Amino acid sequence: MNSFSAKNRDVLLQQLDQMTFDLLVIGGGITGAGIALDAASRGLKVILVEMQDFAGGTSSRSTKLIHGGLRYLKQLEFKLVSEVGKEREIIHRNAPHLARPEAMLLPITKNGSFGKFSTRLGMWVYEFLAGVKRGERHLLLNAAETLDKEPLLKGENLLGGILYYEYRTDDARLTISVLKEAVNRGALALSYLKVIGFIYESEKINGVQVEDQLHKRIYKINAKYVVNASGPWVDELDSLDDKTHGNKLQLTKGIHLVVDHKKLPVKQSIYFDTYDKRMMFVIPRDGKTYIGTTDTFYKGDKLNPLITEEDKTYLLKSVNDYFTTRALKFSDIESDWAGLRPLIGKPGKKASEISRKDETFVWESGLITIAGGKLTGYRKMAERIVDLIAEKMSVTEQTKLPPCRTQHILLSGGKTGVTNFQEFLENKMQAVIALGLSAEEAEKLIYRYGSEIEQLYAIIKILKEKEGFNKTLSSSLRAELIYTIENEMCLTPLDFFIRRTGMLYFDIDTVRKYGPALIAYMCEILQWDDVLAERYNKELQKVVLNRQ
Ligand code: FAD
Repeated sequence: MNSFSAKNRDVLLQQLDQMTFDLLVIGGGITGAGIALDAASRGLKVILVEMQDFAGGTSSRSTKLIHGGLRYLKQLEFKLVSEVGKEREIIHRNAPHLARPEAMLLPITKNGSFGKFSTRLGMWVYEFLAGVKRGERHLLLNAAETLDKEPLLKGENLLGGILYYEYRTDDARLTISVLKEAVNRGALALSYLKVIGFIYESEKINGVQVEDQLHKRIYKINAKYVVNASGPWVDELDSLDDKTHGNKLQLTKGIHLVVDHKKLPVKQSIYFDTYDKRMMFVIPRDGKTYIGTTDTFYKGDKLNPLITEEDKTYLLKSVNDYFTTRALKFSDIESDWAGLRPLIGKPGKKASEISRKDETFVWESGLITIAGGKLTGYRKMAERIVDLIAEKMSVTEQTKLPPCRTQHILLSGGKTGVTNFQEFLENKMQAVIALGLSAEEAEKLIYRYGSEIEQLYAIIKILKEKEGFNKTLSSSLRAELIYTIENEMCLTPLDFFIRRTGMLYFDIDTVRKYGPALIAYMCEILQWDDVLAERYNKELQKVVLNRQ
């Protein structure tokens, strides 16, 4: 039975009471997903539970970059720069479809945050520490060359620029690919299951109580070790164990805005100085340009962090001050998202000054909590947690776990069989185009699913043969829906439009045009009744309307 198929969720839930796990992970963001994969690959029996969709928290709301760690250099966090740089290379090797090199232009201006020579020196140090490949080392540009790279820059005060590399990702798909690989290796991962309490034996945690958010049933799950990897909710979960553990986090909010690329037609990604001496990205992607981010302390609804007019005004003003395009207005914003950074609080520091390092807490009850960190460093964070569990197991159970192997584990979609992803892309493009898809559609699918494209390809073929041409929905949309339902636990329309495909952010027209038809198709596959279908339709309408 495919345990990552939405069709099998109910059967899996019914079996929970009879199972005992070595490890239960709370939170299906990148941190929890990484821990599940590491532990499963070392032979532990693992279950991960997530109260929303996988990556429903911060892990679908980031800037979507696998950083080399350059910004940590400014805070003199040399160890972090070195670790993060190496991790970036590992992610690129293990999931090349989800980590593509992206040239980033850093313009240097008079009175800006970066001086020409100090930046160059910093770049050398950074490239040495992060182990940046020869072909991806920075280039120093003069003012004319910088303007040539990006003609939309206002030329005044421009001294030159640095061209360096970041890697672009899809944060939610990266999280889901890590989880799929964990499931391939025997882990169980269930979404819409909220931990509402811990179960104890002799004052030690040996399980949790969860509530199914879709059907409001309660289940018990037994596990020898429990890890709290709930990101912005870490303190709440810790308080369920003991009220005195809370208040470690200081949440900061970051928002992003998406406009049509024609409205901000940058030739490439740019990392630039804002008028209030912060740094901001503009990144072209799939016919859109996205802008981010802010960094402000946040207290409020964590499930749907609010984007204020002030947030939007700040981003638009920063862009309008910096580029020569027609000034962007609120009405140009097509989509947006807001995420919360789960940072370890340091009283007295500004939001942007708080370290992004992770910290682990081991409580008396045995609960292990991990907080902080970055998407990019997820694998190392996971290694530290599973090493800790291995250490405990060697004492309490005299069991010796093998060392971490995730450095060499190709993620789901990363099994391309070649070392050069471009070669894989070109080969597969031809096959997918032969099925009647446009080159643009084919490329998007291959970047989304990597080597799993073979399975989508097979589904498209069957759909064409069996169901023929469907006037409302293209076969590629239908195939993606079937694939994600059967292989990625896609349970609701928003799971599909946000976390499986990113369409709500980068292709909102498709969501508007095909949303209701896709819900009808999903209804058929998952056999929803009319009430549920209506509820999901309303939910989608609300989300789309909020973006008009
Ligand atoms: P989350 O992704 O939030 O996962 C925690 C999960 O726990 C949630 O899904 C939540 O629903 C679940 N949960 C909570 N309570 C319960 C419960 N009771 N039961 C079950 N489940 C529960 N990092 C980078 O490397 N590159 C970037 O470009 C980047 N940009 C960023 C931009 C912004 C604006 C922000 C906010 C962050 C950015 N980061 C970036 C940081 C990165 O996104 C986060 O560090 C990372 O996603 C945190 O992952 P997580 O798994 O710890 O938390």
